[in-house]
Amino acid sequence: MPDSALGAIASAYVEVALPVPLRRVFTYGVPDSLRGALRCGSRVAVSFNRRKLAGVVVSGRDDLPDGVERALRVAGILDSEPVFTPELLRFLEQAAKYYMHPLGEVLRAAAPALPTGAMKRLRADGFLEAEESLPGQRVAHHVTWQIRATGNAPEGVRLGARQKRVLERLRDRDSVLLEELRPEISDARGVVRALADKGLVDFEEIEANPDPFFRTPIARDVPPPPTSAQQHAIELINDAILDQRPEAFLLHGVTGSGKTEVYLRAIDEVRREGAGAILLVPEIALTPQLVGRFRARFGDEIAVLHSGLTARQRQDAWQSLRRGRITVAIGARSALFAPVTNLRLIVVDEEHDPSFKQDEGFRYHARDMALLRAQYAGAVCVLGSATPSIETYHRANAGKMRLLSLPARATGATLPSVEVVDLRRHRRGPTGHPLLSRPLYGALHRCLDAGHQAILFLNRRGFSPSVRCEGCGALAECPACSVALTEHRSQNVLRCHYCDFRRPLVAPCAKCGAADYQHLGVGTEQLHHAIEESFPKARVARLDRDTAAGEGVEAVLDRLRTGAVDVLVGTQMVTKGHDIAGVTLVGVVLADQSLAFPDFRASERTFQLLAQVAGRAGRADVPGEVILQTFQPEHPAIRLAAQHDYEQFYAEEVRNREEVGYPPFARLVTVRVHAGAEATARNATQHLADTARRHQAIRDGAVQILGPAPAPLARLRGRYHYRLLLKSPDRKLLRQVAALLVARIDQGLAPAHATLDVDPL
Ligand code: ADP
Ligand code: ZN
Repeated sequence: MPDSALGAIASAYVEVALPVPLRRVFTYGVPDSLRGALRCGSRVAVSFNRRKLAGVVVSGRDDLPDGVERALRVAGILDSEPVFTPELLRFLEQAAKYYMHPLGEVLRAAAPALPTGAMKRLRADGFLEAEESLPGQRVAHHVTWQIRATGNAPEGVRLGARQKRVLERLRDRDSVLLEELRPEISDARGVVRALADKGLVDFEEIEANPDPFFRTPIARDVPPPPTSAQQHAIELINDAILDQRPEAFLLHGVTGSGKTEVYLRAIDEVRREGAGAILLVPEIALTPQLVGRFRARFGDEIAVLHSGLTARQRQDAWQSLRRGRITVAIGARSALFAPVTNLRLIVVDEEHDPSFKQDEGFRYHARDMALLRAQYAGAVCVLGSATPSIETYHRANAGKMRLLSLPARATGATLPSVEVVDLRRHRRGPTGHPLLSRPLYGALHRCLDAGHQAILFLNRRGFSPSVRCEGCGALAECPACSVALTEHRSQNVLRCHYCDFRRPLVAPCAKCGAADYQHLGVGTEQLHHAIEESFPKARVARLDRDTAAGEGVEAVLDRLRTGAVDVLVGTQMVTKGHDIAGVTLVGVVLADQSLAFPDFRASERTFQLLAQVAGRAGRADVPGEVILQTFQPEHPAIRLAAQHDYEQFYAEEVRNREEVGYPPFARLVTVRVHAGAEATARNATQHLADTARRHQAIRDGAVQILGPAPAPLARLRGRYHYRLLLKSPDRKLLRQVAALLVARIDQGLAPAHATLDVDPL
C-alpha cells in the first residue's frame, strides 16, 4: 500500500481542530475531490466566521452531529502529507486535555509554520498548486555563495550603508556565506552583486550548510570506555530500550559526571534498532558544544531544531523526521513535538531547568510532557540533571521512576572547593567596590596571575537595577508596568525589563522634578566596568541578554574558549553547561538574589543556580575554586550548594514543601485574569472565585482557593493582572473545580480576559 493511502479518511465528514480559544472541534463536509485524500493529522483550510483558517483533521465521521443540519465543506488540503503522525496526534490530544487548553491551539503551537502562501495556492479542487521542487534529500544543504574581499575601496568610490556592512564583515575574516549576511542585510544577494560589479568582492557558488550548528566540519570521536557508574546506567537504559519497555529514569549525576556520554550511548542503541530519539535541552543557543558532540558521534544526520531556522528549513527537518530519513531530533522545549517516527527514547537534559515550561499561550512543561509522550509511544524516558527538581526526585524516591546515579566526575577531577564569603563581615575589598570583597579580589588576582580564566555570575543585567530620586526618594518606575526601571549606562537610558520602555537617564524625576539620582544595586554592566578598572590588564567580556542580542552568545563563548577573554561577567547565561578548560575560578557575586523572589521554589532555584555555576570551575587538570558571596551564609540553599550536598538539600526542602502543602504534595492551577482597568480585572477574578465556590470541594476545603490577588507584576504593559490559585492534594477534585472555571471562561468575560495555567511555575 502506498504511504499516502495509509489511514485515509473515507467518511463524508471530518472533525477539525481550529486555532480558536474554544475547547471543541468542528464538523466539516468532505468535498468529492478530496475524498480519500484527507488523513488524521492533515492540515486543511476551512471557513470559520467568514475567515479562512488552517485546522487539523482529528477524525472522520459518517454523519452530522445531532442537531446540526448542515456543515460547510473543507476548502482544501494544505500539506501533501499529514504534519502529525498518529502517535504524535494522540499524544497532543492528551496534552490538550491535561492542560485544559483548546486542541486547535495546541496543534498550532506544535506544528511548523504552513508552507509559504499555502492558503493562496489552493486550487478549485482543494489541492495545492505545485510547489517549487524541494531542495535535495538532506535537511538543510543548499547552494549558497561564498564571498571574499578582493581589495580596498579606492578613494572616491561611494558605498551604501549595506555595502559597507558587508565589507566590514569581511575585514577580519577570509570569507562569509550569503546566509550569514541575510539576517542583518536586506537583499544581501543584490548588495553583494553590486560590490562585485565594483570589483570589491568576488563570490562563488558552493554547497554549504547554512545552519550555524552545521557550518564547521567535525571529526568523528572515539567513544571513551564508560566508567562503572556509566556502564550500569547504560545497561539499564539500553535493556529497557531493547525490551520496548516504556520505563522512566532519572539520571542524577554531578556536573561533569558524564551524563551526556550516557545519552550518546542510549541514542546509539536506538539508532542500531532503526528507531528514533528526541533530546531536549534548555536553551539550544547556549549549547553549540553539545550539538558538536552529537555530530562527532553520529555525523550530520541529526535534526537540530532551533529558532534560527527559516520556515523552509524547519519544514524540511520536519519532513525528514516524519519520513524516517532522519531519526534523531535535538532542540529546546518545542522539539518535544518533533514528528520522530518509531520513537523509542526521549532524553531531557537539565530536566530541572525552568525554561522547559512555556510561559504563554499553551503553557506546557516539556519535561512532564516528555514523560507523557514516552508513555504513549512506548518509549523510554531519561531525565538528567546534577540538581533534579524536587518533583522529579520525589517521583524517583516514590518508585515512579528509576534512579541512576553518577556520583563522581568522569575524568576523575574533583568537585571545586567552595568558599562562602559573608558580605556582612567582609565589606569592600581593596577596590572599594561593594561587591568585590577581599577574598574574591584576591582569588581573581591569583587566577589571572596564573594565566587562568574566571567566570563571574551576577543575576542582574544593566548598570544599576534601580535608581532613586535624590529629591523625593521616588523610585524611577515604568509607566506601564509595576517595576523599577533599570539603568543602562552605556546607552544612557533607563529601561523596563518587561516591556522595554526607555527614557533618557538624565530626565528630571516624574514626581518632583529634581535631576539627581541615587543608583541602587549592581548589574552586570557595572560589574564589567568595576573589573576592568580593578584589573586593567584583564580582557573582560560580558554575557547577558543585552550582549547576546549584539555579538551573539556563541561568539562571546568562543572568545572565552579560545582564550581571547580572561574574565567573563554575566547573568545566568554563564551558568549553563559550558565546558571550558581554562576556567579555574567562578565567582558568585551575590548569591542571595534569586532567594528574594516571592515564589515557593525560590530556594530550590537558588540551589540549582549555585550548584550549576559552581560546576563550571576546574573541569580539566587544574582544580577549581568557587567564591560565593552572600548576606545569608546560613541559608540551606547556599550552605548546601557550597557543600555540593544535593541529598541534604532535597531532604530539607521536601520537608518544607510537605509542611506548607506545596508541590509535590499538592497540585496547583492558576487562573490569570487581565484587563485594561484594575476594577474590571479584580471583579472578573472575584466572579471566577465565586463560580469555583459552587463546587463542594471548595466548600469543604478539599480544594483550597487563594485570591483574587494582584499578580506579582500587578501592572504589565499597561494592563492589570489578577490571579486565583487553586491548590489540592487531590488531583481529580482539583480538575473538577478547574473544569467549572474553564466552562465559565469559555462563555467569555469580556472586556477581561482569563487563562488557565495547570502546574504553574
Ligand atoms: P555531564 O553531562 O554530566 O556534565 P559530560 O558528559 O559532559 O558530563 O562529561 C564531562 C567530561 O568528561 C567531558 O569532557 C567528557 O568528554 C568526559 N567523559 C565523559 N565520560 C567519560 C569517560 N567514560 N571517560 C573519560 N572521559 C569521560
Ligand atoms: Zn514596562
